[in-house]
Amino acid sequence: MFNYIIIGSGFAGSVIAERIANVLNQNVLIIEKRNHIGGNCYDYKDENNIIIHKYGPHLFHTDYKEVFNYLSNFTDWQLFQHKVLAFIDGKKVPIPFNLSSLYEVFPKTLAEKLEIKLLGRYNYNSKVPILDLLKEEDQDLRFLANYIYEKVFKNYTAKQWELKPEELDPQVTARVPICISRDNRYFTDKYQAVPKEGYTKIFERMLNHPNIKIMLNTDFKEVLSIDFETKKIYFIGIEFKGKLIFTGMIDELFNFRYGYLPYRSLDLKFETVDKEYYQEAPVVNYPNDYDFTRITEFKHIHPTKSEKTIILKEYPKAYQPNRDIPYYPVFTKENQELYNRYKEEAEKFNKLIIIGRLAEYRYYDMDDIIKRALDFFDYMIK
Ligand code: UDP
Repeated sequence: MFNYIIIGSGFAGSVIAERIANVLNQNVLIIEKRNHIGGNCYDYKDENNIIIHKYGPHLFHTDYKEVFNYLSNFTDWQLFQHKVLAFIDGKKVPIPFNLSSLYEVFPKTLAEKLEIKLLGRYNYNSKVPILDLLKEEDQDLRFLANYIYEKVFKNYTAKQWELKPEELDPQVTARVPICISRDNRYFTDKYQAVPKEGYTKIFERMLNHPNIKIMLNTDFKEVLSIDFETKKIYFIGIEFKGKLIFTGMIDELFNFRYGYLPYRSLDLKFETVDKEYYQEAPVVNYPNDYDFTRITEFKHIHPTKSEKTIILKEYPKAYQPNRDIPYYPVFTKENQELYNRYKEEAEKFNKLIIIGRLAEYRYYDMDDIIKRALDFFDYMIK
């Protein structure tokens, strides 16, 4: 008899399962569609001994001490500060665009002038979203804003979302602000590191507990049935009395009854390159050239001695149900309204908890969802 059933074994599901098993000492069943745990954080070592992130680059960074300490129970860390360059007009420029980037793309006198303007307007170390910089009245700052908008954001966002930056919730492009500093790191969080043996090992250690059973290769639709009249959820062939924690796509849970929520998916093309290193940074973004958005070279993330290197090109596309993997919720006002209808439906089921990037239709980073799951668990047991 299970006290809890969890659908999905990404961070949302795995953190809650681990807490239920260890803190509450109760039984949990995890139902996972794929043949592995870890959701899109899953990674593995290939024949060259290189750790590959199967579903695209995952770089852990957080300001939450609590999240870093929690994960440290399951892994040792390799200190790692993520760096990204963007290929702009044949040059590779530090991203987030910052004071050093000015000198890569403009002649020295113009770069100096723009630096003085930026420092006159903003405090050193501040971060300015591109959509805010575009509202500046000063002519030089507007020139700069338009340049960054055109060269860094417009075409990348068109590839990634098929939208203009201003059509998305401002939080999306604000993830990569203009930085008034010479700090070339992609993130400035206090804790930045990669798990020494990869992310999958974290999940294995979290879930290796006698109270936790995992059913792989099982689509929840094979075992779950919903009665919308009585607002009850049943499991076929599983003894269960308790709460269901659902971390999958909320529209799928409710048979798409209000319509399909849009997601973005990716075609991931891995290539083996016969040289020691391919590029000068872990990730190079290609906002304006080619159809892929970025190239990741995994060796930079998990240092490995090998004569070969593995790179990944990401080709964004619209998600199609039953064909693709949903990677990103599409954060627009209209989609949020559709999501809210599903959320209201979920709230009518009193033993159903929805949590996670897909279930909450939110652009959570790894640390955000771990924090959310830990907080949710504390709230649930009170
Ligand atoms: N973005 C962009 N150009 C870049 C980097 C980011 O336009 O060179 C925008 C784009 O809309 C992207 C968003 O900022 O989807 C968030 O970028 P982030 O690197 O956080 O995306 P993730 O790593 O989550 O795919």
